[in-house]
Amino acid sequence: MTAAYQTIVEELRQSFPQPVSDRVHDAYFVFSFLRALDQVDALKSLTPLLGKPETLDYAAARESRVDQDPRTLEAVTKDLVEHLSGMFIFGHPRAQINVVPAPTIVSIIGGMLPSIYNPNLVSDESSRKVALAEVEVIAMASNLLGYDAAEAGGVFTFGGTGTTLYGVKLGLEKACPDSFRLGVREPAYILCSERAHYAALSVAGWLGIGTDQVIQIPTTAENELRPCLLESHLRQILHDGGKIAAIIATMGTTDAFGLDDLQAIREIRDRLVDEFALDYVPHIHADAVIGWAWGVFNDYDLHANPLGFRHRTVRALAGTKRRIQHLALADSIGIDFHKTGFTPYVSSLVLIKNAHDLKLISRSQETTPYLFQSGQYHPGKYTLETTRSGGGPMAALANLRLFGKDGLRSLLGHLVEMAEVLREQLEGHAATTVLNGGNFGPVTLFRVYPEGVDTFSIPQRERTDPSYRDRLLEYNAYNRRIFELIQQDALQGHGVVISLTDCYRETDYGEPIVALKSYILSPFSQEKYVAAVLESIWDARAKIAAEQKK
Ligand SMILES: *Cc1c(COP(=O)(O)O)cnc(C)c1O
Repeated sequence: MTAAYQTIVEELRQSFPQPVSDRVHDAYFVFSFLRALDQVDALKSLTPLLGKPETLDYAAARESRVDQDPRTLEAVTKDLVEHLSGMFIFGHPRAQINVVPAPTIVSIIGGMLPSIYNPNLVSDESSRKVALAEVEVIAMASNLLGYDAAEAGGVFTFGGTGTTLYGVKLGLEKACPDSFRLGVREPAYILCSERAHYAALSVAGWLGIGTDQVIQIPTTAENELRPCLLESHLRQILHDGGKIAAIIATMGTTDAFGLDDLQAIREIRDRLVDEFALDYVPHIHADAVIGWAWGVFNDYDLHANPLGFRHRTVRALAGTKRRIQHLALADSIGIDFHKTGFTPYVSSLVLIKNAHDLKLISRSQETTPYLFQSGQYHPGKYTLETTRSGGGPMAALANLRLFGKDGLRSLLGHLVEMAEVLREQLEGHAATTVLNGGNFGPVTLFRVYPEGVDTFSIPQRERTDPSYRDRLLEYNAYNRRIFELIQQDALQGHGVVISLTDCYRETDYGEPIVALKSYILSPFSQEKYVAAVLESIWDARAKIAAEQKK
């Protein structure tokens, strides 16, 4: 007699990939996946959505319970596929929403293979050659961005925020030695620009530095940290006996693609180390999770331009290269392959210029007696995480191999070209104005104004003149309404889905400036979809004008 549980186990065994080659079962495995893909494919249409817009029923979700009986793989797959309904297709040419890429097929495979076999990057004992993938990517990225690959180190971690966490933690240990053991016992500061990602605040909170100790330095109109203000804050802190846990340079801000002047930051840091005779060197972390990819242009000859980019594109690429080529001046660099590297989530790498820095955060052998008994690569000695998936490095490796420098150059060049086309058109109309014209990435922030507004002077006045407060707020509301109408249009499959940022930056008198945002990241983007953005804008303006006449 077989017990009930034995029957269940026997059935459930079919739900696992077979440990010993079994062609018939392999076919079942692959076919199950294929059918899932088929079901997802059936959700596609001309709109940049899978399925249809869905209202999210959280009340029903909270009623979910674990069943008594197992379900079939087919039933579960169907349930999973349904969870994708209503998702944006970020790789759709009618989607210009945010810095979310479409992953390539090889990077999906790179992410999936480890999910079948669970290599654990904690150590090469458990991840074998997948550990080498991490080492390979660290070497490739180091070389790409100008670090000496023989000296550099790094680790894949849980997102861009994780990369900043590692950078700041290293800096904290340099500034306040032995904090790892003793805790943070003196005031330590993080300095970054006011346009830096809020990850800086998360990190300050989680590391015990405290968010009050994050100093956000004002930026220029180009969304770059003002070096002279950084210097005065640093001086003040050092003068008062405070410690500098880290200076974060943002190399590609989230909304506007602003790029801090690392050269100036580094020069100030070095000068103050001498002047104050510091016994540590304040750590500079470059948050380049977005901008890193432009490192492929470091050794591209923009003058000869062998890939044949248009003039305007070349100028935009030069505008970025000008800052990105200095990335190696930072002590650590955050990279998101899952942003501008076209991999699935999560694939984030923190590069460390001098791998010896990792000693500052290494645990001793006594605390991990059950690990690291053999092998030679044990990142688990210094990572915050214990289990780390091989998916991140394998996906990154996949794309670096797939693209090569020219592939990534061409893709980024194309995206920047499309953004430049959009800008050219927005600049050509009296009713629209580009807000981040001095930033040369794939993202364009702009505002739309009603008939009769003088866009030659208004945007500037809105930003600087307190007597324009009311009009600023009125036009903020106007742009929100434009956004809603464009969104409606796009979900019908006509226009393009863009996004809105509530605070592109603050005016000089402290009000938020609302901006429309086009983030072009789809390899399928084309000029006709750029034109569609403009058409949607005109339609939306006309609708609002008609509403107001009523
Ligand atoms: C997205 C972003 C982050 C956070 O990265 P995640 O991968 O989302 O955790 C940090 N800094 C900048 C500049 C970003 O754009």
